[in-house]
Amino acid sequence: MMSTPANIHTSEVAAAIEAWREALGDSSVAADSRSLADLALNAGGFQRHVPARLRISTVEQLRLALIIATEHHVPVYPVSTGKNWGLGSSLPVRDGCVVLDLSGMNRIRVLDQDAKVAVVEPGVTQGQLASCLSAEAPELHLNVTGSARGTSIVGNIAERGDGWLGPRIDDLRGLEVMLHDGTTVRTGYWHYGHSEATHRWRHGIGPSLDGMFTQSNYGIITAAAIGLRSKPPSHRVFAIAVSDEWDLPELVNKLRILHELGVIRSATHIFDRERLQSALGVPHRSWVAIGSIGGTTRGSAAAWQDLCSTFTGIADVLDAGGTEHSTDPALQGALAAIRPILQGTPTDAGVSALATRYGPAVEATEVDASDTGILFCLPVLSFTGSSAHRLVELTRRHCRSYGYEPAITLNVMNDVTLQATIDVTFDRRDAAAAPAAQDCVDGLHAVLADNGFMPYRLGIQTMSRLIRSNDDAFWETAARIKSVLDPLGIIAPQRYDPHILGRNF
Ligand SMILES: Cc1cc2nc3c(=O)[nH]c(=O)nc-3n(C[C@H](O)[C@H](O)[C@H](O)COP(=O)(O)OP(=O)(O)OC[C@H]3O[C@@H](n4cnc5c(N)ncnc54)[C@H](O)[C@@H]3O)c2cc1C
Repeated sequence: MMSTPANIHTSEVAAAIEAWREALGDSSVAADSRSLADLALNAGGFQRHVPARLRISTVEQLRLALIIATEHHVPVYPVSTGKNWGLGSSLPVRDGCVVLDLSGMNRIRVLDQDAKVAVVEPGVTQGQLASCLSAEAPELHLNVTGSARGTSIVGNIAERGDGWLGPRIDDLRGLEVMLHDGTTVRTGYWHYGHSEATHRWRHGIGPSLDGMFTQSNYGIITAAAIGLRSKPPSHRVFAIAVSDEWDLPELVNKLRILHELGVIRSATHIFDRERLQSALGVPHRSWVAIGSIGGTTRGSAAAWQDLCSTFTGIADVLDAGGTEHSTDPALQGALAAIRPILQGTPTDAGVSALATRYGPAVEATEVDASDTGILFCLPVLSFTGSSAHRLVELTRRHCRSYGYEPAITLNVMNDVTLQATIDVTFDRRDAAAAPAAQDCVDGLHAVLADNGFMPYRLGIQTMSRLIRSNDDAFWETAARIKSVLDPLGIIAPQRYDPHILGRNF
């Protein structure tokens, strides 16, 4: 249920809806409660009042939509594919925003094999780009996330999401952004038009403006240039498994050395017992690290030897092709499931597995309508065994005190930093379950932040927790930039936005 009926509009919203109908056509504007009912179904169990949704298919339509929103002072909230599951799906941070659904802007504008770059619009999904590459540039692949094929690249970049080969933001080579008044800004060398280095060297000359347009609400991304990777001649996917809970610190410390030395280059994911059992069907293991090594055939063979010798006597080491040090059919199954992701082919398997925790099996496209509620907490920590152990202990103690068993994965961001993906799932058939789980996850953010574990990304319900300090020069500066770029607060109010303090521009 949304918090107030969707058909109650202020006069400004009603006037804007009329103007949008005229400018974009009736079929692009949904403003009755029946057409908006699907928004009430979201994996996090959140409630927001959304007065309308506009389906936008072109840059020009977006310009018209924004000019009308500005004219009528109606706030809007862009979504690329709206699959920000566990963090808000396609719901805005605050009530009263019109959702701009950009999934119809789904052109791959450029595929430049020499520059190893694709320029994609917001509606382009990782599945779409991966299929395009396998047909047109099979020697290249994309850094894909563990989320579904139908999730966007642009929305994920806007959130600074996490791919299996590293943080997605590291793949960024330029952004095209529309401001609230319809102005288009292109970052790096892109705005020069004729520069040979456009989409090759991200930073261009002058301030690096691209960083301003992720995890912010200064503009709407209309295209992103995404770096692609050459497929190495040899690519080996591995699992390193320990069966004792207390082996986590040693596993983490040894992995760090291999990342520091460049032996492992993927964003190794370290799964806990709960996630191994529920998502990967692996019993009897406390922690399993899955990642890949690759390069020349000789280099890859040497890396494999380094990996095996590092863990001799400590852990079982397997690769996806065979069984070097251990035979474990369950682990081989998990490797077979994750291998395509590490090779640039996204799958729906992880999302479907999580979404079927409660109730019948669902397709990845149905996550928001499934019986399984999902909430994420995504803290960042040092790449050390002691830090990992501390975070896991705090998380489990907190969640268990609320009656939840969290699933935890520790993902390598670089050779000094890990990011934890903690999910709490709940049964959406029970009306009391969503608020209880939200309380637990809100409290978890607080406990972890008090202990120095700040999040790398926030859900719509937790934005206010960290973005609130009145005397923090960082957020003061962010607020000043907002006041210049979007003085009326039209775009995504309160999204990573200190206006939550009550100031309005
Ligand atoms: C089982 C499971 C596994 C997952 N694995 C991963 C993973 O490995 N890595 C990961 O990062 N995430 C993961 N996710 C979370 C999520 O599904 C992805 O991050 C997904 O890409 C986000 O949805 P989206 O692409 O549809 O973005 P959207 O929902 O469209 O947008 C996300 C956010 O960005 C903003 N935004 C969107 N488009 C624009 C734009 N054009 N301009 C400005 N702002 C914009 C939106 O306002 C919203 O706040 C996982 C989720 C589940 C359930």
